[in-house]
Amino acid sequence: MNLLRSLLPAACVAGLLSSSAPAALAQINTTQNVAPGVYFHEGDPRRGHSNNGWIVFDDFILVIDANYPSGAQIVMPKVKETSDKPIRFVVNTHHHPDHAYGNQLWADAGATIIASTKALEEMKKLETGYYGGSPGKWEETAKVRPDVAATKLRPPILLFPDELIFDDGHRRVELHCYGTGHTPGDVYVWLPKEKVLFTGDACVNGPQNKVDDGNLHQWIKTLELVKQLGAEKVCPGHGPMGGAEIIADQQAYFEALLAQVKTLVDAGKSAAEIKAAAPQIGAALKKDPHIARYVMPTMTAHVQQAYLELGGATFPK
Ligand SMILES: [Zn+2]
Repeated sequence: MNLLRSLLPAACVAGLLSSSAPAALAQINTTQNVAPGVYFHEGDPRRGHSNNGWIVFDDFILVIDANYPSGAQIVMPKVKETSDKPIRFVVNTHHHPDHAYGNQLWADAGATIIASTKALEEMKKLETGYYGGSPGKWEETAKVRPDVAATKLRPPILLFPDELIFDDGHRRVELHCYGTGHTPGDVYVWLPKEKVLFTGDACVNGPQNKVDDGNLHQWIKTLELVKQLGAEKVCPGHGPMGGAEIIADQQAYFEALLAQVKTLVDAGKSAAEIKAAAPQIGAALKKDPHIARYVMPTMTAHVQQAYLELGGATFPK
């Protein structure tokens, strides 16, 4: 389980452990029509899969996130069921395995892989020795996931610093980097006419936040900018689709988490004491119905990140 914890996204572990899993799994592996020509597919947390989205243009399809290879194998036929246009582009919303490791399958099907320049930097730093550095998470994951072992890492090759816009005269889709949140290279996919937003893991809709590759303080500020878009339908990186409340609740959860940890820091508590208080912090956060769904089965990683950002040290083992 420890190996699983280190290699699978928080979403997977949370999904395995959640006692409310049966209800939450109702929409898993189903395609939802968000708007005409716009689709959302909720991934299976038991297999570590991310959510996906896709948008049908006049001449081609743009897919949001590559998923793991095993997730791509599930989603690709579903994309093809909705349209016979070619899948020409796939956007990695960030560098994490469950959003980018399936790239090869989409590239083999003819797609160009897109990401932000910062996501590629993170991929080089953390994910792989492909670029000549030390082996990373990709090489480790290939040892335990047959779907990863059976394919190759295909990096994104079309990169943009801040925004990239698709507009064929009928359909407009904007890819935006608003700043660090879940990772430094988070991409949001925004459809201004339909007021639909795909957030990647910058917003999730359940106990699925992985926080140690980002920055909670900056994440809160970035989500403030994202709120201004006026999205009416929000498709998160994990968990079910919802409305604008997902962005506000996600932001409120991080604010409340930081406030809880700050109270202990201000009271002079030690790293060991704050680590020991993680379950109580989770219990306190669960009392607010807007943010209760973000409380993890184990809160240590979230409390640790907040503590580090408030000037604290790494928790003792
Ligand atoms: Zn992620």
